[in-house]
Amino acid sequence: MGNPVAHSKSPFIHQLFARQFQHRIEYSAIQVDPGGLPQAIAQFRAAGGKGLNITLPFKLDAFRLADHLSDRAKVAGAVNTLKFEPDDRIFGDNTDGIGLVHDIELNLATSIKGKQVLLLGAGGAARGVLGPLIKHHPARVVIANRTVARARDVVQLFSGQVPIEACSFADLRGKHFDLVINGTSASVKGEVPSLPATLYTRDSLAYDMMYGERPTPFLEWSALHGAARVSDGLGMLVEQAAESYFVWRGVRPETKSVIAALKKES
Ligand code: NDP
Repeated sequence: MGNPVAHSKSPFIHQLFARQFQHRIEYSAIQVDPGGLPQAIAQFRAAGGKGLNITLPFKLDAFRLADHLSDRAKVAGAVNTLKFEPDDRIFGDNTDGIGLVHDIELNLATSIKGKQVLLLGAGGAARGVLGPLIKHHPARVVIANRTVARARDVVQLFSGQVPIEACSFADLRGKHFDLVINGTSASVKGEVPSLPATLYTRDSLAYDMMYGERPTPFLEWSALHGAARVSDGLGMLVEQAAESYFVWRGVRPETKSVIAALKKES
């Protein structure tokens, strides 16, 4: 459920997952009007629904609607996965962060441990990925945001676990990072955060949580400014879906062939 959902790739992804286990599932995209999430969920449940994904702009509403939450959803303050339990309670989880970390560590073969990590943005997506990122022991995490106060708020939630600091984009001048993750929505508007040109080293990976048919503006900018490798968020999308599938069905789908199928499709 989300708005808009017409171009969602999730129904395709979940059908490929179900085929791996010969599960019979129905998974379709449901467009929900603003303010209509509680009613849409109730209808879905009455029609026999077992669980669902929640996407923009309803992740905070879903957080409030869940009867109980996973630790990672509590930390993220947002929910992208709901499961109806046998005792009628609604369980809320957030699989975005683990999706990002799996894509970076497993699909892109890049260890986060000991790395200098820059996370751009301080919205729901950035907040959702920080907990799982920190669990992989980066040497340091810097959160840079257009509105610095929001980055400071996020840092406060995670301070004491690894060296972590908040700053503006301009404050990044003269600093270098092994991994730069774009968790802003700038790419949606065809924009790139105003970053200094010297962020990258010879081995740096630039990662955009957004994906599309073409490289995002952030990835084009990064390739031009010295990033050794760039990746969009298609792998994250598939990995977060796999984790949701695990929450619902108790089995973890294989993801590499699904990512390949999606790339072939686009
Ligand atoms: P939010 O609206 O919660 O936050 C948006 C963030 O982007 C804020 O930090 C905002 O800064 C910043 N921002 C917006 N425009 C600009 C700009 N022009 N320049 C610099 N910073 C800007 O959005 P979300 O956090 O929910 O989503 C962010 C992105 O992550 C989206 O593109 C979304 O598609 C993607 N995403 C991908 C997933 C995947 O599976 N691949 C999963 C989840 C999200 P400020 O605070 O100053 O307003």
